[in-house]
Amino acid sequence: MSLPRVTVWNEARHEKIHPDVKAVYPDGIHTAIAAFLGKAGFPVRTATLDEPEHGLTEAVLAETDVLTWWGHMAHHDVQDEIAARVQKRVLEGMGLIVLHSGHMSKPFLKLMGTSGALKWREANEKERLWVIHPSHPIAEGLPEHFELPHEEMYGEHFDVPVPDDLVLVSWFQGGEVFRSGCCWHRGAGKIFYFRPGHETFPTYYDPTIQQVIINAVRWAAPGKLPEVTYWHKPEPLEKLD
Ligand code: ZN
Repeated sequence: MSLPRVTVWNEARHEKIHPDVKAVYPDGIHTAIAAFLGKAGFPVRTATLDEPEHGLTEAVLAETDVLTWWGHMAHHDVQDEIAARVQKRVLEGMGLIVLHSGHMSKPFLKLMGTSGALKWREANEKERLWVIHPSHPIAEGLPEHFELPHEEMYGEHFDVPVPDDLVLVSWFQGGEVFRSGCCWHRGAGKIFYFRPGHETFPTYYDPTIQQVIINAVRWAAPGKLPEVTYWHKPEPLEKLD
């Protein structure tokens, strides 16, 4: 089977205007993510907000099996038309991996139908992630638990639909917990939300974090889907009385 083609999307604004973020990700968060996914063997391209059509033309999305999404300060700058295009491709089978503050991105909220709201605190605290679904493909090769020494806290309640599968749960030094690795199915597509990845921390250089995202790309990639015909009036397969 050929490896899934990945498009790594990033709004890439913090890196341009905040020196503390530029220090961690000098070439942008997308470049850091694309680097380890490329090293894992996936054909990877990147796309950013300020490119025409945010780099997500019909042609690019048609050649994308899995899209990863990082956004934070400029969710509102994403054109509704492009967000709808991403949503449509997910319903057709494209995998979507929503990272960290992407919980408020237009494509994610369109696909969830909820507010995506949560609690947060920037206090450089420790995050411990627990694998609570060890037989799930996204948990493959992970330790029972792992830590990030410094992260932003996200706390429950996280206003999303109850996940179809919950792979990871986070504990924070300040006492909160959070559903950190959530899976949903929408139409023919699979969606994974992965919590860590605040822009001022080197989270995407962490090998365990990279392993989760690599596993998620494999899981979210569309398989060979059976053909389904909608909106037609079928002849009965058995003789009806
Ligand atoms: Zn953040």
